[in-house]
Amino acid sequence: EVELPRREAALIARRDNVLGSSYRLQYRKPVHFVRGEGMWLYDPDGRAYLDFYNNVPSLGHCHREVNAAMAEQAGRISANTRYLEPKLIDYAERLVETFPVEIDHVVFTCTGSESNDLALRIARLDSGNEGVIVSAYAYHGTSAAVAAVSPNLGDAVKLSPNVRMVSLPGPQGVPEAQAPDYFEAQVRAAIFDLNRRGIGVAALLIDSIFSSDGVWIDPPGFIAGGVAAVREAGGLFIADEVQPGFGRTGVHMWGFERHNVVPDLVTLGKPMGNGFPIGAVVGRSAPMDKFGTTARYSNTFAGNTMGIATADAVLTILQRDRIPDNALAMGRRLRAGLEDIAQRHDAIRAIRNAGLFFGIDMGLETAPPAQRQAQALDVVNTMRDDGVLISTTGANEDTLKVRPPLVCQAEHVDLFLASLECALARLAG
Ligand code: PMP
Repeated sequence: EVELPRREAALIARRDNVLGSSYRLQYRKPVHFVRGEGMWLYDPDGRAYLDFYNNVPSLGHCHREVNAAMAEQAGRISANTRYLEPKLIDYAERLVETFPVEIDHVVFTCTGSESNDLALRIARLDSGNEGVIVSAYAYHGTSAAVAAVSPNLGDAVKLSPNVRMVSLPGPQGVPEAQAPDYFEAQVRAAIFDLNRRGIGVAALLIDSIFSSDGVWIDPPGFIAGGVAAVREAGGLFIADEVQPGFGRTGVHMWGFERHNVVPDLVTLGKPMGNGFPIGAVVGRSAPMDKFGTTARYSNTFAGNTMGIATADAVLTILQRDRIPDNALAMGRRLRAGLEDIAQRHDAIRAIRNAGLFFGIDMGLETAPPAQRQAQALDVVNTMRDDGVLISTTGANEDTLKVRPPLVCQAEHVDLFLASLECALARLAG
């Protein structure tokens, strides 16, 4: 048990009282931030914390130009999509241009959950089927429909009888050369079962970086056979880009590009507004038009002028400042530093990354899962005390999840590495 300062202890007690038990705080010693700027967050005492965790403010906390665009729009008008708004059209066109040519339609939402919820509706209408195939520890959001296809929620939620889970090759220890065949066989078995029960397959819905499964990236292209199998069976491929999207994986704007596949539908959220709640479903016109003409879609806040002005500024800056290139360069620097540290600390079992999205497995292969998880949590909390923010992910929560804002620079990478090495030395000591 950690001793908390009186101010934090009092806030936690009041919070528990009014918010109840569904809200979780991060860290053994929860933090209270009053200000953010770029890569940094500040507590009430002015102490700075280096943010290597938050992938929503991809352009850095409180980006001035994004804030200015938001404020300018707030001072002019806040209106919905039932009126003609050139900026909405401009933005939709520019967004679609960042995708392969087959993908040419956009529908706006307010969150990643809404994006996935809508994508499932579109896929079910298009295919006439109900079944959804997801990865073993997938998280796709919070609405009833998407929580029911999110095994990551564990016992908290009853999964839909129409969902089938597939294991990923990486966590199963399948060698990379066999990964594509393994994944395809998993998907085919799921399709077979869905068909046998008369459910049929509506969609393969996957986070193209498999973040809640523990960040599984390689080998590039390993999902392609599974995607083809779903299409053969009449289902759609939905790429959930809420986590890897908007340049995080470096060079590529979208995580699916790494796998050389073109989705039918792509769901967006988190970094799209750098903190302003805006998301979208982007996709091929055929299923989206079919949905649009059959099931009228209306969403009070989605695509409103505030969200669009914000997302428009975010996309402009992302492209102008070549943010994905920075993600690639800084990802390389971070990876090299981690490999160096791993030579001195065998508590690092494996390192996986694409651009600035890292999964770092903790603990020896031979150690019991509970011990590996405890080590990962110790590192996360020691680094928090040192003023560096990260978290954990994966089936056993023994993978460090590292996703800094994409504007991070060499000095930040080096600070992070020094802090990690200190935390690992403490583990050993
Ligand atoms: N998909 C993925 C892969 C996510 O990680 C999340 C959120 N963590 C969501 C969807 C849901 O997004 P939101 O919380 O904005 O509804």
